[in-house]
Amino acid sequence: MTAYLNGSFMPLEEARLPVLDRGFIFGDGVYEVIPVYSRHPFRLKEHLRRLQNSLDGIRLANPHSDAEWSRLIEEIIHRNAPEDQGVYLQVTRGVAKRDHAFPAGVPPTVFLMSNPLVTPPAEQVAHGVAAITASDYRWLRCDIKSVALLANCLLRQLAADVGAAETVLIRDGFLTEASVSNVFLVKDGVLLAPPKNHLMLPGITYDVVLELAAAHRIAHQVREITELELRAADELMLTSSTKEVLAVTTLDGRPVGRGEPGPVFRELHRLYQEFKRTVMRQPAPA
Ligand code: PMP
Repeated sequence: MTAYLNGSFMPLEEARLPVLDRGFIFGDGVYEVIPVYSRHPFRLKEHLRRLQNSLDGIRLANPHSDAEWSRLIEEIIHRNAPEDQGVYLQVTRGVAKRDHAFPAGVPPTVFLMSNPLVTPPAEQVAHGVAAITASDYRWLRCDIKSVALLANCLLRQLAADVGAAETVLIRDGFLTEASVSNVFLVKDGVLLAPPKNHLMLPGITYDVVLELAAAHRIAHQVREITELELRAADELMLTSSTKEVLAVTTLDGRPVGRGEPGPVFRELHRLYQEFKRTVMRQPAPA
């Protein structure tokens, strides 16, 4: 597996960083995960825009232009074997003596790696997954895709502890998102999604799902969703670059709707797979 670190490509095992990297010391950095289908990065422009927003959010200058990022991403795809990959990229505030205030004149650390893309197995697509709920105790800038993911790790582990796939998060009585994905629900045939704000990560897949709903005249609304509405949903689903669109069929051990993936999920899942295929049909990058 080939990685990239600060200007060089190398086997992942050989990538080394000083322990004083602020990513390690403070979690002072941001990241992106870009799904790659048949060697085509999916929604690259949108991922690079979100990266810029995250960097702006932590006041770190973008070390690369979009054209440079695109070249690095193409190169990492080219140097790794799988046709479908998850390209991970991370930028931290670099290596400096430990001090909370920003160091002056320190180059950022730039790291990329690629993993084989693992999407949900057919069994999960057909039957859905279990999720639990928890109080969203993360900070108030969840729109920044920060590498400081301790709260997300703790919340995700709550699900792992009970063999569930995800932890759905509730803040002050309202649905925000889940520990590693966004959440949609369906009530009386209408697809509902919480609005993008500082309390959730603006998912690239979230946007795709809403675009598909609009293009295919699936009734939908973006608005605040209460915990009561969440618990009374006819359908519940998760979206992320790796989960794609995945139905939740039990929440806190109780069935969601009839306890099986519903018609709106099935339609969106089909549309999403079709949409991916249009990306794959574009000519492979040189
Ligand atoms: N919310 C959180 C907290 C996430 O970590 C992720 C992605 N891993 C998402 C939402 C989904 O974002 P995307 O669709 O861009 O993968």
